[in-house]
Amino acid sequence: MKLIDYLFPPICPVCNEIVSGGKDGICPACEMRLPYIGSSYCMKCGKPVEEDEEFCLDCLKCTHEYDEGRAALVYDELTSKSIYRFKYNNKREFAKVYGRIIEDRLGSKIKSWNADVMIPVPVHKSKMKKRGYNQAELIADELSKRLKIPVCSDLVVRNTATAVQKELSAKARQNNLKKAFNVTRNDVKYKTVLIVDDIYTTGATVDAMARCLKGVGIQNVYFVSLCIGRGT
Ligand SMILES: [Zn+2]
Ligand SMILES: [Zn+2]
Repeated sequence: MKLIDYLFPPICPVCNEIVSGGKDGICPACEMRLPYIGSSYCMKCGKPVEEDEEFCLDCLKCTHEYDEGRAALVYDELTSKSIYRFKYNNKREFAKVYGRIIEDRLGSKIKSWNADVMIPVPVHKSKMKKRGYNQAELIADELSKRLKIPVCSDLVVRNTATAVQKELSAKARQNNLKKAFNVTRNDVKYKTVLIVDDIYTTGATVDAMARCLKGVGIQNVYFVSLCIGRGT
């Protein structure tokens, strides 16, 4: 056992107790309890679907600005609690486990997109100040180490302190987000970018970012997210 693990034993992102067994920052038993997305998923956004379905209801109803995206886990009670602690209780080290899980599940898919760069969904400056970190950026940094794709976290910024998304309807979310992002440079040389986030729900955030990025000439915009909602 390393001294650091003895002094600060790793806390499991699932059960929130000291990790029991294994050496990977997560209890092996807890890792098996995670709600992985199986082999039936939406061809556009990656949400779980029934076996004979090609697209989820959301993607049948609306056209997305991004090209394609995938997630590793379903956003349910278990994963939402884990992400809450990651985001608000300073459990930054969870990013290591999350990054490894994304690589395990989606590494080869991500590589096939040939992204020039990864862009974490930015948080507004005031939130960054309060919380001290951007959870999406921590996941992107971990993925970057593993997949050797650079991270660029200053190309897109969040403009205004937009209203709290979860309190809005889907339509209101979209309007709220239309002006939410800005690309900081016009001389962008990237052809393909990969947006990284912790949670994908309606896709409004990724769409708003994709619209901005395509507006400065980026051709392909993909996303990867740790968790994804089940759809409506
Ligand atoms: Zn555990
Ligand atoms: Zn979909």
